Amino acid sequence: LLAKERYDFVCLGAGIGGLTGALRAHDLGLSVIVLEKSDQVGGTAAYSSGQQWVAGSYVEEEAGIEDSWEEGFRFLTWLAGGTADPTLLEKFCRTAPQVYEFLGREAGVRWCIFDIPDNGWPDAPGSKKSGRCTELEVFDGKRLPEGWRHITRHSPYSRYSNNEMYHELGGLPNRHTWDPRETKRRTEQDLRFQGSALAAYFVSAIADRDIPMHVNVENRALIVEDGRAAGVVVAIDGEERRVLADRGVLIATGGYDWSPDLVKQFDGRNGFGSRAPQSVTGDHFALMEPLEPKLATVSRPHNLGYREPGEISIGGKDRWQSLYTSYPHAILVNRFGKRFTDESTNSSKSETDNMGEPINTPCFAILDSQYRKKYQVGVVRPGEPLPAAFVEAQSLGELADELGIDPAGLEETVATYNENVRRGVDPDFNRGTTRAAQIRFGDPWMKPNPSLGPLEEPPFYGVSLSPVGVSLTQTGFVTDEYARVVDTHGKVIAGIYAVGNAAAYLDVGSTYHPGTANTRGMTWAYVAAEHAAGFRVPEPAHR
Ligand SMILES: Cc1cc2nc3c(=O)[nH]c(=O)nc-3n(C[C@H](O)[C@H](O)[C@H](O)COP(=O)(O)OP(=O)(O)OC[C@H]3O[C@@H](n4cnc5c(N)ncnc54)[C@H](O)[C@@H]3O)c2cc1C
Repeated sequence: LLAKERYDFVCLGAGIGGLTGALRAHDLGLSVIVLEKSDQVGGTAAYSSGQQWVAGSYVEEEAGIEDSWEEGFRFLTWLAGGTADPTLLEKFCRTAPQVYEFLGREAGVRWCIFDIPDNGWPDAPGSKKSGRCTELEVFDGKRLPEGWRHITRHSPYSRYSNNEMYHELGGLPNRHTWDPRETKRRTEQDLRFQGSALAAYFVSAIADRDIPMHVNVENRALIVEDGRAAGVVVAIDGEERRVLADRGVLIATGGYDWSPDLVKQFDGRNGFGSRAPQSVTGDHFALMEPLEPKLATVSRPHNLGYREPGEISIGGKDRWQSLYTSYPHAILVNRFGKRFTDESTNSSKSETDNMGEPINTPCFAILDSQYRKKYQVGVVRPGEPLPAAFVEAQSLGELADELGIDPAGLEETVATYNENVRRGVDPDFNRGTTRAAQIRFGDPWMKPNPSLGPLEEPPFYGVSLSPVGVSLTQTGFVTDEYARVVDTHGKVIAGIYAVGNAAAYLDVGSTYHPGTANTRGMTWAYVAAEHAAGFRVPEPAHR
């Protein structure tokens, strides 16, 4: 039960945003509480690959990499292509290195560089050949206090190693060759990697400080006094309580992946699936309604994948599985049988290219039997039967017919593709030429290009793909440079901050860059805590 009813800073949600806000506010001398709806702490970050993106951090400096937040700002400005608010973007880039240093030096988070810097865009202004993207050193789960260890969210996705080691082991496409005894050993020893490590470091820091954190909390309503958010009405173990917030309520409740109504309303999609925890249901929209917050929509990429009925899920009955057409012997086509993107950088990129371009929706993964023999498809290892969503045929024409693709279009695309692949090139989309493709999304054992392999050996396989959310939701609250929520008249609503996926992506804009989602959650929560404590983080120069 709650120790008291009045705190300075009340954090709703124990994801990356809520936990960072709590840590910073506590270290600035505020009394803090974290109220989490689900029975676990760590949020979506715990299911993430644990990547962050920071330009000009002390981690880069220690590794001898020259960089600055200004260069990072230049790069993200280019990447956002006019979809970001320059004031927010500048504040984000300028503050992230401080946040990083605070978490690394004061809160014991052990960052390490994962060398896929500005991978997809090596020639962009401000792009870096090394540094920026980081991940976590392995975390020994036994270090967590007993009470927290079993409720600190642990990802089902990444029980084997960190990102850097994946590559040495042959990357994700070759994960069926990893030694299952080693996975078992690491699981038994409670070693945590990637997002699981991220969540564990944060929870460990919260526990070290004795910050009160409650799970299974139902946040029923905001307490509004004179137009200002003054606290929340919660129910814990069925008992309703008022929790007052003297200096602010931090909304860090994530996105709305698992609210079909909000997904329909904001994204116009039906039957959307996600790999985020199922407690991420956009509750903040209803909570904030009395204060008339202003909303903004910034289009965001999703992964592409399919539903595997009956597979173990992280929350529901079915598991949503991303499918990588970045590996050799696979392509992504639209219903005309035409390729439309560089599949190798990140399959989610193709969805970005889809935005406003219905000719590429739905799209289809096409594989040949070499892919099946060599690579794992989702959780299916080579030789095991594919899920029912897949179609198999002896010829490309038959496969196209069954999937509803133009057969002649597909045959022509594959013929041209194969011819180019034999010459070792992809003049249409340059597959496999970026460092991301080489390190993360390709098969490092495939030479000379980790992403190029012909589709020539029957049987052929295909599956219709739909967007799979990774909690990078498109609509959120409009916030100012102190993470304060703004109302529909453009006025700041006193006492309320929104960060992470609850805040619109006006800071970094619409393009996904690995690590920016986690970093923005931390950065704006830090800014909010500093503001609530009366600090003024330097104003952005950009106006
Ligand atoms: C498979 C996967 C891989 C990813 N990989 C990366 C990556 O490598 N790098 C990256 O930058 N991003 C990645 N992301 C995205 C990133 O992890 C998220 O965008 C980020 O963690 C969101 O942080 P958040 O603080 O906004 O919310 P979340 O981490 O979603 O946390 C929200 C928390 O609030 C709780 N909550 C919800 N409603 C309420 C309520 N009413 N009251 C109280 N609590 C509530 C939820 O239970 C949850 O614990 C990945 C996501 C997925 C799913």
